[in-house]
Amino acid sequence: MHSPMHSGEPINGLSVDVEDWFQVGAFEQVIDRDSWSTLADRIERNCDAILRLFADAGVKGTFFTLGWVAERHPALMRRIVAEGHEIASHGWDHERVFRLGAKGFADDLARARAAIEDAAGAAVTGYRAPSFSIDARTPWAFEVLAEQGYAYSSSVAPIAHDHYGWREAPRFAFRPLPGSDLIEIPVTTAMFAGRRFGAGGGGFFRVLPYGFSRWAIRQVNQRDRRPAVFYFHPWEIDPEQPRVADAPMRSRLRHYTNLGVMAGKLRQLIGEFRWGRMDELAVREAARGAALAA
Ligand SMILES: [Zn+2]
Repeated sequence: MHSPMHSGEPINGLSVDVEDWFQVGAFEQVIDRDSWSTLADRIERNCDAILRLFADAGVKGTFFTLGWVAERHPALMRRIVAEGHEIASHGWDHERVFRLGAKGFADDLARARAAIEDAAGAAVTGYRAPSFSIDARTPWAFEVLAEQGYAYSSSVAPIAHDHYGWREAPRFAFRPLPGSDLIEIPVTTAMFAGRRFGAGGGGFFRVLPYGFSRWAIRQVNQRDRRPAVFYFHPWEIDPEQPRVADAPMRSRLRHYTNLGVMAGKLRQLIGEFRWGRMDELAVREAARGAALAA
């Protein structure tokens, strides 16, 4: 599958945050959670397109899924697992961790995991916080994850951003708790002019030309010699999704730009670098041992 020039490079983490077009953080002020079950469900068709894309490219990845979605789509959850991908948790209904508090977070995690494991018939060992919302405001979050037996989390964006970010966090995998094996694998950042910026997906990948992402992931793989972590969403490959008219202009611009070219860019990205599941990436990172001490 991969050319020999790739063979010495790290295997990156490929991930999908499984939430529908009406569940994104940018629209939460204008779409009430109570209305979700009345809105057009696009998750099944979009995830099937992603499964085809991954199968065509011969890659496996991780699907961080909302419990709310898993409960409604058990057959899809089983298809994801049957095709060799990892099923993991993205929380219950996309409430950000810093809004939940420690007890609320524990409840959210447990409820989501039960729904996902029931639907998928597979164990969940990984977690990604909605909108990368584990940050300086949530010092209890990793303890809760460790208590519930998670092997890894990929919930930190080690940057300053208008919606999220924890700029002091390490750029690469670290052990956030002394005496625990829990590993945090932050989403990828690249360095430019001495500054970090988010380069693992989102608007950086979809809105900017593909060459920026190629440059950023090469920097991480070849200069830093570390694996990258990339994420995208099912709605990002769906140009026909319903439009949210009353959302802020900035959110609409960010959400709807380049939906039509996303699948092609993904194919290019997947073909050009090495990719795999996040749980397997966590095992390889854990083998780095003491180097991971935060
Ligand atoms: Zn999300």
